[in-house]
Amino acid sequence: MAKHSKNAHESLWSTPAPEVLRATDTTRIDDIDYSLTPGFEGKKVDGQALLAERGAVLSALQEKLYANGRTGDLRSILLVLQGMDTAGKGGMVRHVIGMVDPQGVDLASFGVPTKQEREHHYLWRIRKELPRGGRIGVFDRSHYEDVLVVAVHDLVPRQVWEARFDEINAFEKELTDEGTHIVKVALFVSPEEQRRRLQERLDRPDKHWKYNPGDVTERGFLPQYRTAYQRVVDRTNTDYAPWHVIQADRKWYSRLAVTELLIDALQKLELDWPKADFDVEHEKKRLAES
Ligand code: AMP
Ligand code: MG
Repeated sequence: MAKHSKNAHESLWSTPAPEVLRATDTTRIDDIDYSLTPGFEGKKVDGQALLAERGAVLSALQEKLYANGRTGDLRSILLVLQGMDTAGKGGMVRHVIGMVDPQGVDLASFGVPTKQEREHHYLWRIRKELPRGGRIGVFDRSHYEDVLVVAVHDLVPRQVWEARFDEINAFEKELTDEGTHIVKVALFVSPEEQRRRLQERLDRPDKHWKYNPGDVTERGFLPQYRTAYQRVVDRTNTDYAPWHVIQADRKWYSRLAVTELLIDALQKLELDWPKADFDVEHEKKRLAES
């Protein structure tokens, strides 16, 4: 196993994750190479060891964000996780977000809209779950379902979902202006790996709860989903809320990559520990005398 110096992430990543994974005008969902670990030179053992190390860095930064939130800083991070079933969204929450203090996390998952949700604008349920100041918000699925599954299955007329791209961009701009740093991640598994993961869910009684017969139906729509994701990337890859497209056949890689994206987002906030709003020396004296 490779030795990990303090700066192992710098030597094992030939190109930093935020740079190599960021979607561009030429990103093609159809051309994702599932055999690659873009930008990362190490092997699985290196990736796993590095994840633990970087988890500590992430956790320390998150504590600072939380501390600032407690003293009135309204800034937050919002991690938007998109991907089809078995892409590893749940594992991302458990293994990456699981490395930080749960007090500082606002987690929400979005499934088929409830009757009440359907009575409102599609952003209504999203707005209710936005992260509070000082928190890392995590969306397991998001408002993007309203231009993905909705488009693939014609749940509303095309002109309706077409209009949503501009609306989503405006919404995310508003959030950004209010101090929410948005990190958008689209996870993709290859059809073969998806089959393997669904098979495992059927073979293992402890995984039956994750299986949904509809998942196999959705597999029949993979090309349509790729088209829908391509449209999402083409239409909503803004400079204030860019997409990151991550091949997720190797869970260790996608988890490490998202950890790096979060660290990068937190570092950009240039956080410091909040200043005491009391006289520290005076308090020390009082404590000594108490
Ligand atoms: P899961 O993530 O496995 O709990 O599945 C949630 C399901 O809800 C997925 O099949 C999504 O496509 C579906 N879903 C999420 N948001 C919407 C939406 N706005 N309209 C229709 N289906 C949705
Ligand atoms: Mg599912």
